[in-house]
Amino acid sequence: MTEPIRVSILEDSLELQRLLVDVLTGIGYDVRAYGRAKDFELDFAQFKPKVSIIDLGLPDKDGLGLLHKMSTEHDTAILVISGRSSLTDKIAGFELGADDYLAKPFEMPELVARIKALLRRSRSLPDKRKSIHTVGNVTVDLSQFTLTDCNGNEERLSASEVAILTVFVDNPNRLVTRDKLREELQDRSDQHSFDRAIDVRVSRLRSKLKDSPKTPKIIKTVYGAGYIFISEAD
Ligand code: CA
Repeated sequence: MTEPIRVSILEDSLELQRLLVDVLTGIGYDVRAYGRAKDFELDFAQFKPKVSIIDLGLPDKDGLGLLHKMSTEHDTAILVISGRSSLTDKIAGFELGADDYLAKPFEMPELVARIKALLRRSRSLPDKRKSIHTVGNVTVDLSQFTLTDCNGNEERLSASEVAILTVFVDNPNRLVTRDKLREELQDRSDQHSFDRAIDVRVSRLRSKLKDSPKTPKIIKTVYGAGYIFISEAD
């Protein structure tokens, strides 16, 4: 028997927390819920959730700070749920490492669909092809979610960064349209949010890959169309 997928919920509204636990337990996930960031963090290393659902408005900690910490130090897929629904908030969420962002109020089927999309993304990654690639002056390991520079310094990649890089390394030296990315990433947000989120993620990736933001040599932008990933490898 396969082990149930572990999901952590960090949400201080007990009513919503209970509802989430019911729905996610009902579809067979192993669920733990917390009302305070402190308890979530304390339990994290032991529970090792595949997916973390994180509310940004928390009583004991700034949600954005926590998000940044989680996405840089751990490889859990992060779904942010937040009452802050403006585009600026979403972009801040993505910049700090959220893999998806759902504004409150939301319908449970929508939440379940987003979680399943995150799981499909992270599951299809590791064995899709050889996972270690040299990109410019760094080495990325798509199964370990790491990037190592020429001095041996290691940095973590978020699940969504790995998903984007996987599409790029599978389609080198040719146009990868935004539609193609959207399809491969199984993204369900509206076009405008998706475009902004992709822009944010690509600029984060460029910065991690030490690519120039003004004249990129690794991930080139084709205005109005998409991106071309330049690779010297065959
Ligand atoms: Ca809250």
